[in-house]
Amino acid sequence: MDLDTYHKIVSQLPNSVTLIAVSKGQSIDKILKLYNDGQRHFGENFEQELTHKKENLPKDINWHFLGNMQTNKLKKISSSSYLIQSVSRKKVLDKLNNFNEKKSINVLLQYKLGNEDTKSGFSRAEIIENHERYKNSNSLKIIGLMGIAENSTEEKRTQNQFKEIAQLYNELKSKDENISTLSIGMSSDYNLAIESGSNMIRLGTVIFGKRK
Ligand SMILES: *Cc1c(COP(=O)(O)O)cnc(C)c1O
Repeated sequence: MDLDTYHKIVSQLPNSVTLIAVSKGQSIDKILKLYNDGQRHFGENFEQELTHKKENLPKDINWHFLGNMQTNKLKKISSSSYLIQSVSRKKVLDKLNNFNEKKSINVLLQYKLGNEDTKSGFSRAEIIENHERYKNSNSLKIIGLMGIAENSTEEKRTQNQFKEIAQLYNELKSKDENISTLSIGMSSDYNLAIESGSNMIRLGTVIFGKRK
C-alpha cells in the first residue's frame, strides 16, 4: 500500500466528497495504517469479513456495506453498518423495514447502470416506487443512491451513466430532504464521477493495491 497515493487523492478531493476506503480482501494491518492516518470510512462486501474486522479494529470506524445481501445475514449487517449502500431488492427493504430497531438504519438504493447481467440494482421505476413506499419508514432511512458504472474504457459511456444516476438523484432530492448522498466513483472512474456530482466515492485498489 502506498500512503503517498492516498494523501494525494485526499488532498485533491473537494470538501463535499466523502472517501470510502474499500477494504474487502485487505488486511487488518493495512486498514489500521490508513486509520492512523485519519481515514474513518471503510467499505466491506461480506458479512463475516465485516464482523471480523469490526471486532478487531477501533470502534469509531464507520463501516459501509457494499456487497450482495442474503436476507439471513441482514440483521448482522444492519447492526454493524453505518450505511448500507447496496440495497437492490425489494425483499431486503421489506426485511430491514420490519426490524423495527430503535435507531433507524441508513441505506442507499442501488441503481443499475448499463446492461451487464453480473451487476445488480433497481430500475428507475423501481427506485421511484420503493422510495415512495419507504420514505416515511421509522426503521430505515433512504438517504440516496449508489451506482457502479459498466466496465468500459469509453469515457463518454461512463460519463453518460453517471449523468443518468445524478439526474435521478436530483429528482429524489427535490422532493425529499433526507436525500443527501450520491455514491458513485471507484478506482478507475472517480474523477468522472465527481465531475458528475458524486459526493461519495468508493476506492479500493487505487489506495490499497491488489486484493487478496
Ligand atoms: C469492490 C468495490 C469497490 C472498490 O473497487 P475498486 O475498483 O477496487 O476501487 C467499490 N464499490 C463497490 C460496490 C465494490 O464492490
